[in-house]
Amino acid sequence: MDIELGPEDLAFREDVRSFFAENAHKAGEDYNVWRLDWFKKARDKGGWDVPKWSAEFGGPGWTPTQHYIWEQETAQATLPWDMPFGIGMIAPIIMAHGNEEQQERFLPDIRGRKVNWCQGYSEPGAGSDLAALKTKAVLSDDGTYYTVNGTKIWTTMAQIADWIFCLTRTDDSGIKQEGITFLLFPMKQEGIEVKPIITLGGAHSVNMVHFTDVKVPVENRIGAEGKGWTYAKGLLQHERTGLAGISRSIVALENLKKQASTVKRGNGSLMDEPTFRAKVAELEIDLMASEFTELRSLASASAGSAPGPESSILKLKGTEIQQRIAKLTVEAGGIYSAAWGKPVGHKFAKGGMGGYLASRAFTIYGGASEVQKDVIAKNVLGLKRSSK
Ligand SMILES: Cc1cc2nc3c(=O)[nH]c(=O)nc-3n(C[C@H](O)[C@H](O)[C@H](O)COP(=O)(O)OP(=O)(O)OC[C@H]3O[C@@H](n4cnc5c(N)ncnc54)[C@H](O)[C@@H]3O)c2cc1C
Repeated sequence: MDIELGPEDLAFREDVRSFFAENAHKAGEDYNVWRLDWFKKARDKGGWDVPKWSAEFGGPGWTPTQHYIWEQETAQATLPWDMPFGIGMIAPIIMAHGNEEQQERFLPDIRGRKVNWCQGYSEPGAGSDLAALKTKAVLSDDGTYYTVNGTKIWTTMAQIADWIFCLTRTDDSGIKQEGITFLLFPMKQEGIEVKPIITLGGAHSVNMVHFTDVKVPVENRIGAEGKGWTYAKGLLQHERTGLAGISRSIVALENLKKQASTVKRGNGSLMDEPTFRAKVAELEIDLMASEFTELRSLASASAGSAPGPESSILKLKGTEIQQRIAKLTVEAGGIYSAAWGKPVGHKFAKGGMGGYLASRAFTIYGGASEVQKDVIAKNVLGLKRSSK
């Protein structure tokens, strides 16, 4: 495994660093104006506004090492707010499985950050066992539109979404992975009801979404009827690697160490306390091991291999690490972490408890930890299911 950065990669890193420094948000600057301007400038750099898109669709066509550098640098810089569902999720599916008309129709607005998308996969009876989904789509007799009925749950940001990419059932006569059809439709239309779900930390980001006789033109179907599972599956592996957030955790842990050094304990600080130091050290070791797993998968991607089951290892360990950092942040902030609203005590403690509570979901979405362990047992360790 060769993970040394060569002169070209070092030059690329400098270029990325300068771009972030030159285009950072300035105090008093209108956020929305800056945000759209940032994306425009990133586009002019040669597709930096859509780093993961292939060169064929206007992306930068980076090597895996350049992607890794980008991830590391973005963890330290302040980037404009961006929803993952358009650029990172539905766009790759449209590129891979949509027809030319769909690519021309949807990709420019996704790239221009003009449309907000949400992901309609999970249902009350279909989460880990996603293929059990029941939301029904029935094709009209003349074959021009589907009528969709059913319920989706945990739909993130459905309350502001303009469009949804949705898994529906068009046939339940065969095995459950067959007969699933991938549809795109606008959220602001008759027959769609979005009900908020307030999570532990008091935030409204997820929703229950009901569909009653929603009409979807057949030209909004991605690929062939009944083949939606194949398209949806590819996305999940991609989503898992992104959720690991290793580079972000490295920065977060460094920040936590600095913050803990400001908390007084006797003649020193919390960072001098052996028990706290031990927890930080354990986290650092696990983080380093996960970083090496990420680098291993990078090295095999550079050698042309397809992403393997290491995406499950990364999702599992990466999200656990994020939760441990959130927990240790609350510990460092002490009683001040519990304050809601106006900050009291240590400045960094503000939002500590909110962050910790929100982090409970990290090991659930994008495939729960138990499911990742199943994948690792089967595909990495080669274990067989018990016959009992
Ligand atoms: C904050 C948040 C945001 C989300 N956003 C979206 C979104 O935008 N769009 C969307 O479609 N979905 C979204 N989800 C849904 C998410 O993908 C599901 O919650 C997840 O797949 C788990 O499904 P479930 O909630 O039905 O739990 P279940 O599948 O019912 O699991 C319950 C428990 O059983 C365990 N379990 C299940 N199967 C097995 C097994 N085979 N072996 C061992 N243990 C098992 C699980 O690990 C879990 O602990 C979101 C979830 C959350 C919490």
